[in-house]
Amino acid sequence: AQQPIITFHDGHSIPQVGLGVWQTPQEIAAPTVRAAIAAGYRHIDTASGYDNEEGVGEGIRSSGLDRKDIFVTTKLRNTDQGYDATMRAFDGSLRKLGTEYVDLYLIHWPSPHRGLYRETWKAFVKIRGEGRARSIGVSNFYPDHLEQIIGDTGVVPVINQIELHPDFQQKAAQEAHKKLNIVTESWSPLGQGKLVADTTIGEIAKKHGKTPAQVIIRWHIDSGLVVIPKSVTPSRIEENFKVFDFKLDAADMAAISKLDDEGARMGPDPYTANF
Ligand code: NAD
Repeated sequence: AQQPIITFHDGHSIPQVGLGVWQTPQEIAAPTVRAAIAAGYRHIDTASGYDNEEGVGEGIRSSGLDRKDIFVTTKLRNTDQGYDATMRAFDGSLRKLGTEYVDLYLIHWPSPHRGLYRETWKAFVKIRGEGRARSIGVSNFYPDHLEQIIGDTGVVPVINQIELHPDFQQKAAQEAHKKLNIVTESWSPLGQGKLVADTTIGEIAKKHGKTPAQVIIRWHIDSGLVVIPKSVTPSRIEENFKVFDFKLDAADMAAISKLDDEGARMGPDPYTANF
């Protein structure tokens, strides 16, 4: 079965499953990215803050595929927010990745204590206008942050990448995004790995002859989310991509829906994150 893609409101498209590379050290980023591309992945999610953009770029260049066949996302480091600092930081990311454009550039966190995300978004609009980022979006934004940057510029982010996993489903955020034509992207989609041990997920996996990780990734796909599971282990990277030959049924979806728990956030709350 073919891998699914989602089309943004700006006309560009994103492969629905990508490889996340947070905590993937620079030294192994290239072989990890090559393993993913060999397994069929066409979408890599990195960030300036992951300190592995050089390795990611090298992995793409040595994959045997054309640059245009891989969807590359990177993100602006919080300490680089502000109009001029963003322009400089973006140049640095392109240089490290060794590419002339990224497919998607994201503001990593609103970082409200800096008071700079609105200025930063104006720089993003400029970068998109230059064609150096095909699409622009945000990460960890609440609906009020979204309304401010849209009000300032009239430019709606194509995507909001937020913490989202079966026990932290962010239903209100998903609804808010839908109204604005913003795609929702799930970070820590496996709950940083802890959800592969969940008994509900385990039962569903057994029923379909799939692994728990595959069931969780399929849940994100069937929920209309972009999903970027992370692994540095080639066998898991392959396993996490073998998810296009089955579908969850209504009973599976209902059972997973019940796992939702407001208290299950693993990362910081973007309102109060002070980094
Ligand atoms: P994840 O939910 O993808 O879990 C990754 C961990 O799950 C692995 O380290 C491994 O321990 C385990 N795992 C992976 N595949 C498995 C398998 N098949 N079987 C069993 N265990 C398996 O966690 P993550 O890395 O936090 O999130 C994924 C990506 O999301 C990141 O790499 C990054 O690209 C992105 N992210 C973004 C933000 C943000 O602020 N925008 C924050 C965190 C993560």
